[in-house]
Amino acid sequence: MSPEISPPAETVTVLIDGKEHKFPKGTNLLEACQSVGAKIPFFCWHPGLSSPAVCRQCLVDIKGAPKPVPSCYTTVADKMEVTTNSPKVLDVRRQMLEFTLLNHPIDCPVCDKAGECSLQRHYFDWDGMQARNEGDKVRKGKVIDLGKHIILDQERCILCTRCIRVCNEVAKAPELTMAFRGSHEVLTTAPGQRLDNPYSLNTVDVCPVGALTSKDFRFSRRAWELFSTPSVCPGCATGCNIEIHASRGKIRRLVPRENPAVNKFWMCDEGRFEYKAVHENRVLLPSAGGRRVTFETALLEAANLLRNELSRTPDSVGVVFSAQATNEDNHALLRLAVDGLKIPRVYAGGHALGASDTILVSADKNPNSTGLERMLPPPLRTLKDLASDMATGHLTTVIVLGHESMAVPATTPVALIVLASHKGPLVDAARVVLPIATWAEVDGSFTNKDGRVQRLHAAIPCTGEVVPGWRALALLAGKFGGELGYTSAGDVFAEATNRHAFMKGATWGPPSTPVQLRFGESRG
Ligand code: SF4
Ligand code: SF4
Repeated sequence: MSPEISPPAETVTVLIDGKEHKFPKGTNLLEACQSVGAKIPFFCWHPGLSSPAVCRQCLVDIKGAPKPVPSCYTTVADKMEVTTNSPKVLDVRRQMLEFTLLNHPIDCPVCDKAGECSLQRHYFDWDGMQARNEGDKVRKGKVIDLGKHIILDQERCILCTRCIRVCNEVAKAPELTMAFRGSHEVLTTAPGQRLDNPYSLNTVDVCPVGALTSKDFRFSRRAWELFSTPSVCPGCATGCNIEIHASRGKIRRLVPRENPAVNKFWMCDEGRFEYKAVHENRVLLPSAGGRRVTFETALLEAANLLRNELSRTPDSVGVVFSAQATNEDNHALLRLAVDGLKIPRVYAGGHALGASDTILVSADKNPNSTGLERMLPPPLRTLKDLASDMATGHLTTVIVLGHESMAVPATTPVALIVLASHKGPLVDAARVVLPIATWAEVDGSFTNKDGRVQRLHAAIPCTGEVVPGWRALALLAGKFGGELGYTSAGDVFAEATNRHAFMKGATWGPPSTPVQLRFGESRG
């Protein structure tokens, strides 16, 4: 029997602005036009939501149609002839924009969305006309507290319904609706509801104007003061792709970055606040025996502790890896502690399990559990085993990457060498502390729950004497007379991809310099 060959996808031929193009049958016309470089403005359409065609901004001419049609609501058909830039089309779009602006307050100077607002952008790109209405505009509600994270300005709302569709279609929480009609139509919460679903802040991202603003971010920075860096949310094992928006060395917000295979266009509200910890309760300086020392002294002290104990009772030395740390930090620790020092007792650390849902949120609250599990040699011991081994006196010296989830008494007899980014009981009890960077300050990678190795890029510089974890470990290796041979995180990644099967084929990619949002695309 001959092998089964699937038929080629059916294609249709469409003439767009005088040029012939082929598309798979069923392609959305707006997306087809965009893919061949035709510029069409829109407000209500969003690639991750249904198309209601309510804003009438994406009108195009189709030969044979009696009037311009919304391209977002039309699928391509064979021999369709489409014009996206005829004087008639440009004129009707301008009229629709004028209609949208009729009751808009134009309070751009005090609007949080200024600089990344689709209404501003389309006005400048497609219209630029003086307003002709001389009467009073319809006044609607200002500063309405819609829910835990969001404020609504009803006057600015252009009734596109994107936020309603995000709640209905993504969060499966029908909390928003429209009320009244005509010029008096307003966005509001459904009777008895608040906008409190765990994905509510996605409504702020999709809002094309400044009608929905995040309580956390509003008025903290103008959009053009922000620098954007691609990264991965550290909040759980899903590994949602994100942009870190920072200004002057501080992260101001996290927003989702499109990845059809992981998070599509969305992220959860909890993940949005992961940036706060980057700036709180940090370990910025090295210490030994509770005293502030130089990095060099801390390294020497750590090396002496390990060397002495390994020569006396090697079986009483342990090493703790972290599911919160990057593949690079864990790999560097593997090279130093397991390959080099032959530390026999290996433990896997990280946050405990938490709540999950069927949309994005994983119960595993670590971004790199899969990377850690696939990297470490068996038998893998847990933090519970570690606590028990410490309590029973099996361990005398432990080197720990990370600061999480280890409840240790401040008076423990065990000599702890801790590479930590944050203060806590572990750091308080440590004999030696080396300050290391967080996920937002390093280049590196996490492996999400599906085994996808995803890149992090440093969005803000390290402060104090903080260094990336792999760098601290490379320096510590130097005190044993060995060199790990790394000059960058990329070196560690390259070595790790050669060694670990789960990282084979993963690519480091080009460096990513933070992009100032004034040069970036408008969001929403
Ligand atoms: S609040 Fe924003 S997203 Fe919601 S309908 Fe109004 S303009 Fe659209
Ligand atoms: S689902 Fe997980 S990875 Fe995604 S944003 Fe939320 S916490 Fe972050």
